[in-house]
Amino acid sequence: MIKSKLVLIFLFTVIIFQFQATSWAEYDPVSATEGWSVIESKYCTIFCHPKVDINKVNSRIQIRFYDINGGRFSAKNKSAEEQLAEKFDRLLLRVEKILDMYPRKLHLKAMIYKNQAQIDEVYIRIFNYSDGEERISFYVHKFTTVFTAEQVIREGVLAHEMGHAVVDHYFVVLPPEKIKELLSQYVELHLED
Ligand SMILES: [Zn+2]
Repeated sequence: MIKSKLVLIFLFTVIIFQFQATSWAEYDPVSATEGWSVIESKYCTIFCHPKVDINKVNSRIQIRFYDINGGRFSAKNKSAEEQLAEKFDRLLLRVEKILDMYPRKLHLKAMIYKNQAQIDEVYIRIFNYSDGEERISFYVHKFTTVFTAEQVIREGVLAHEMGHAVVDHYFVVLPPEKIKELLSQYVELHLED
């Protein structure tokens, strides 16, 4: 009786590990970026889907209204790619400052898709399920990656997800989901203070 129970537990464990290995642990969206534009900044790597208009993405992220380290952002003599790279870095520094959290080992990745349908699709591929909720963006700690799209991106959306990345890298023991969400909402709220 006890023996067969042990066998069952063993089998169950094997099945669970197998399931995890084949479900979401092995799907790394960043490995499926052939043909994507890759923009490297100091603190981020930004992947843009081939259909994405980088000029549009750049114009949707407005960070002119606040200072970071003494100076304001200027677009002068910079390509859309250079502007985007600088905006990502400045936003990340801003988020760290708002939270007063400066995790040492954070190099953020961002996947920018064309539209909402693609965000929904990658969410299902990563988590292997859908709760039917429409997210304009999300952050996955396992990949240190923010997922969003040209259609919906703006500075507040990015700052919110960057907040998740900073919090997840700052704490050794991660706070509960509700607290993490509150911290990210706090970032979004105080972005332009
Ligand atoms: Zn959130």
